[in-house]
Amino acid sequence: GSTIGILGGGQLGKMLATAASQLGYRVEIYSPEEDSIAAEVALHSTTAEWDDIAALERFARECAVVTYEFENVPVAPLAAIKDMNLRPGLRALEVAQDRLAEKRFAEDHGGSPAPYAAVSDRKELEKAMKSIGTPGILKTRREGYDGKGQWRTGADGEPDDGIEFPETGCVFEGFVDFKSEFSVIACRALDGTVVFYDSAENDHEGGILARSTLPASLAITGQVEEARALTARIAEALDYVGVLTIEFFATEGGPVFNEMAPRVHNSGHWSIEGAVTSQFENHIRAICGLPLGDTSLTGSRVVMDNLIGEAANGWEDILADPHAALHLYGKGEVREGRKMGHVTRVERH
Ligand code: ATP
Ligand code: MG
Ligand code: MG
Repeated sequence: GSTIGILGGGQLGKMLATAASQLGYRVEIYSPEEDSIAAEVALHSTTAEWDDIAALERFARECAVVTYEFENVPVAPLAAIKDMNLRPGLRALEVAQDRLAEKRFAEDHGGSPAPYAAVSDRKELEKAMKSIGTPGILKTRREGYDGKGQWRTGADGEPDDGIEFPETGCVFEGFVDFKSEFSVIACRALDGTVVFYDSAENDHEGGILARSTLPASLAITGQVEEARALTARIAEALDYVGVLTIEFFATEGGPVFNEMAPRVHNSGHWSIEGAVTSQFENHIRAICGLPLGDTSLTGSRVVMDNLIGEAANGWEDILADPHAALHLYGKGEVREGRKMGHVTRVERH
């Protein structure tokens, strides 16, 4: 078989590598981290910085196709590599790693984000808070995940003193009064075929995904069609290959675009046991030019719970539950707010 390269060494890379291996591919991981968890299940791994052109060139030469499990891989060094068969492509990476660019991109394709304004310092923040209104959330344009790099501003005004304004800027957005949250997980094949996973209802705690539940509530199912149509237009516009995820707020006025991830997504982990073909396998199929697999549910109800921080220590109880599928990522040190694993329960009747 041929070799698939994965940029990034986290749990998403590990799950992609596992799916690739099942289909007979060899996997090579590229990550700046020594001993990444994805490297444990890959045949080869390269430990090098994102801007190490020579290392990237060697990596690209060994791989028939290269993908990424992490949207913050710098674009410029990748653009400098001639023969890298990157799927999804650079444009998807570029748009999705900048909150301002992704909101504009979504609007250009008919999506509705929360009201927002680009902000680079305290003065601009105060102006944006006046024009958009409060409460709201200030988010760094780049690098944030799991609610990091975000500051909430109260209804009564004064922005928090702890705010840092990075060189690369921030976006201030109005607080959305949503009924619930969901994501659209699509997979686009090389020939342009698009399949969708059922949208789960996503519950967050402190900005971190805690649980995904299927089927979702009616508040969500009534908005999925419109959200899927936007997702398909975005995928098409990016000439996208692989799994693309878009997070939405379900509101009275319809689906509000939150953000996109040019990759497999935590809110799709349930698909390993809960769908006929997992998001990981379908991503691998897509980037390898293979036909996509069935995304149908394998049960009547599927629930995925993240094991965050100390919660990961209760896994003996989970193993005692015959319906529970336990995934521990092998990250080592337990830290508060760190995603250590997840558990999926599929009910069949
Ligand atoms: P992820 O780990 O999903 O990449 P992130 O750090 O990029 O997270 P967001 O998705 O922007 O963060 O926000 C995290 C959560 O905070 C959202 O899922 C939602 O629950 C809440 N949130 C974010 N923006 C808003 C908003 N404008 N109005 C209301 N709630 C919001
Ligand atoms: Mg995000
Ligand atoms: Mg998010």
